[in-house]
Amino acid sequence: MSRLIYLDNAATTKVLPEAFEAMKPYFMEQYGNPSSIYGFAAESKKAVENARETIANLLHAKSREIYFTGGGSESDNWALKAVADAYASKGKHIITTKVEHHAILHTCNYLEKQGFEVTYLDVDEYGVVDLEQLKASIRPDTILISVMFANNEIGTLMPIKEIGRIAKDNNILFHTDAVQAFGHMQIDVEELGIDLLSASGHKINGPKGIGIMYLRDTVKIGSFVQGGAQERNRRAGTHNVPGIVGMGAAVAYAREHMQERIAHEKELRDYTIQRILKEIPHTKLNGHPTKRLSNNINIGFEFIEGESILILLDQLGICASSGSACTSGSLDPSHVLLAIGVPHEKAHGSIRFTLSEETTKVDMDYVVDNLKKIIERLRSMSPLYEDFVKKQ
Ligand SMILES: *Cc1c(COP(=O)(O)O)cnc(C)c1O
Repeated sequence: MSRLIYLDNAATTKVLPEAFEAMKPYFMEQYGNPSSIYGFAAESKKAVENARETIANLLHAKSREIYFTGGGSESDNWALKAVADAYASKGKHIITTKVEHHAILHTCNYLEKQGFEVTYLDVDEYGVVDLEQLKASIRPDTILISVMFANNEIGTLMPIKEIGRIAKDNNILFHTDAVQAFGHMQIDVEELGIDLLSASGHKINGPKGIGIMYLRDTVKIGSFVQGGAQERNRRAGTHNVPGIVGMGAAVAYAREHMQERIAHEKELRDYTIQRILKEIPHTKLNGHPTKRLSNNINIGFEFIEGESILILLDQLGICASSGSACTSGSLDPSHVLLAIGVPHEKAHGSIRFTLSEETTKVDMDYVVDNLKKIIERLRSMSPLYEDFVKKQ
């Protein structure tokens, strides 16, 4: 009997049946290019515009402010590089944080090589950005603040409204990588003062390889992909019609079911965290106790390697993660855990479980019951643990 308990929803999610069904006709029946003139293509164009409107509504944005891209990474690259390009004459200083996704951090490294200066803000022990340091970092040549909405590893929510206000007061553009928060919680770009926002289809039960960027219509930046006139001349390339339709359907579902989903995930999250912290000694919750994504659990287990825990969990059909999918395979500890002050050796012993609306209490009891045995077994083989016990 093979059982699968998928607890890596921050890495990717299962496509919703509603999204899959909505996509199907756009492969073999309505395969017209939305940019074509004839009637046959009009259906494709309509489907793209419907999805755009659904997504705009979710964000309280205008349809024309939503641009389809090839995913969250592309949106992040576009936002940073195009703002840098368009505003270089005003200044060459960008502010971000130490805990961003690599799509932001590596783009910032690239821009530094192009002559831009980047300030990487610290975060506190919970992963929340320091607003006083943000204010103090602003200079006359600062052109952009980019701070993620919610952290993909530890789930911490950033004070987006306060950051939006600070950016506005100083006449600086504000971009947020909202890939983890989009569709999972309320986001109102007006109320929050967001000028640019990145989101991705496959993190909200839509297909992979499709994303959006919200670009406030008063912000003028250039295209990231050069070519045809698609997306108001701002993102060339034939539309990924099935992907766009699938993302639109996933967003419609997410909006409809947001409150019940949050309630379900939060209850399971807090139940699981409490069980782990109570029943397994020498464990710590990484990230903020309450200001965190409803589906994120990140726990540090002392004296052992996260990779070993993952392998043993995998043998039971449990999919979890240490750090982010993008860093797995590398031996470096997570930059996010280091930024919240977790020492190197402990950063290696952290595991992330990210739930979905399908996750049940039975699943989580199975996980915790087995986790107890796994941790005990690994510690019994751990020289670090042996040293610790001897010193007691
Ligand atoms: C997954 C993720 C991305 C990358 O999105 P893709 O669509 O996979 O390119 C960017 N930022 C965050 C916070 C993410 O979790």
